[in-house]
Amino acid sequence: MAEQTLPNATQLPIPMTSLASAAADPARLAAPQPIVAMHGIVKRYGGGADDGGDTTAVYALRGVDLTIRRGEFVAIVGPSGSGKTTLMNILGCLDVADRGRYVLAGVDVSRLEDDALAKVRNHFVGFVFQQSNLLARTSAVDNVALPLAYRGDSQRHAKALAALKAVGLERRAGHRPNQLSGGEQQRVAIARALVTSPAILLADEPTGALDSKTGAGIMALFAQLHASGRTVIVVTHDPRIADLAPRQVHLLDGRIVLDASTAEIHARRLDDASPFQAIAMAAPGAAAASPEAH
Ligand code: ADP
Ligand code: MG
Repeated sequence: MAEQTLPNATQLPIPMTSLASAAADPARLAAPQPIVAMHGIVKRYGGGADDGGDTTAVYALRGVDLTIRRGEFVAIVGPSGSGKTTLMNILGCLDVADRGRYVLAGVDVSRLEDDALAKVRNHFVGFVFQQSNLLARTSAVDNVALPLAYRGDSQRHAKALAALKAVGLERRAGHRPNQLSGGEQQRVAIARALVTSPAILLADEPTGALDSKTGAGIMALFAQLHASGRTVIVVTHDPRIADLAPRQVHLLDGRIVLDASTAEIHARRLDDASPFQAIAMAAPGAAAASPEAH
C-alpha cells in the first residue's frame, strides 16, 4: 500500500568517499537513502533586491539542515513565528528556498520552477492542514478520491475505500462532512492525503482545531501509519503533541535548536530545564539567569 516509485539509487550522485566509509560500517550501508535532505536552507520574506539594506526583510529560515529517512515519524515543533509553516511549505514543494539545497526522494527540487515543482509535489507529497477543507456536498469516499480523479485513475473508488479503511472510516464512506465529527473529518483529510501513496505525509498543525482527546487520536493514527511504513512529518506548536512522535525537531527564530529522539528529550527534561527555558536562560537580556546580575 505504501508502494511508491522512487528514483533509482544510481541516479543519486554519491561520492566515493562516503561509499568507502559506508562499506566500513555495515549498519550505514543498510540504512535507507534519506527521503528528505536539506542543507543550509534560507527563506526570506520581503526586502527584495531594491531594498538596499534589507531593512524590511524577514528571515523565516536562517540556515536549516535536516535529514529525514524513509519511514520516520518526525514532529517539527516551535512557538508561533519560529518558521514551522515556512519549512513545511518548502518540504512539501509549495515553495522554494532562497538559498540552500533540498533533495526530496532523490530529486533536487532546490530551484525548480512552479510547473516542475507542482509535478514533484503531486507525485511525492500528501498534505494535511488544520482545517480538513472537504467538499461539503460530497461523500467521504468521493472527497478522498478527488486527487485521483484529477489524474483520471479508473481505480480511484477502490483506492479511496482502501485509504478510508487505513484511517478506520470505511463504514463512513457514504457520509458527507456535516455527518461526521471534527476528528472524523480530519481522518477523511488524512485518507485524501494518503490516496496517492505519497513519499512523505506532511501535516501542519493537524490537531489545532480539535479538542485534546480527539487530537491525541489523530496523532495515534499518524503513529499507526508510521508503523505501517509511511514517512510522516507533523508540524505543531504544542510540545505535548510533539511528544507523541519518536523524533522531534525544535525550531526557534528560523533555526533548528534541537533535533533528538523524544526519549532523549524526556530524559534531559528530568534533570534539566526544557530546551526553550535553557535558551531563554542563555539569551542576553535574561538578566535574572546571568551571573553578571548578581
Ligand atoms: P510558524 O508556522 O512557526 O508560526 P511561519 O513560518 O508562518 O511560522 O513564519 C515565520 C516568520 O516568517 C514569521 O516572522 C512570519 O511573520 C514570517 N512570514 C511568514 N510568511 C510570511 C509572508 N508570506 N510574508 C511575510 N512574512 C512572512
Ligand atoms: Mg504555522
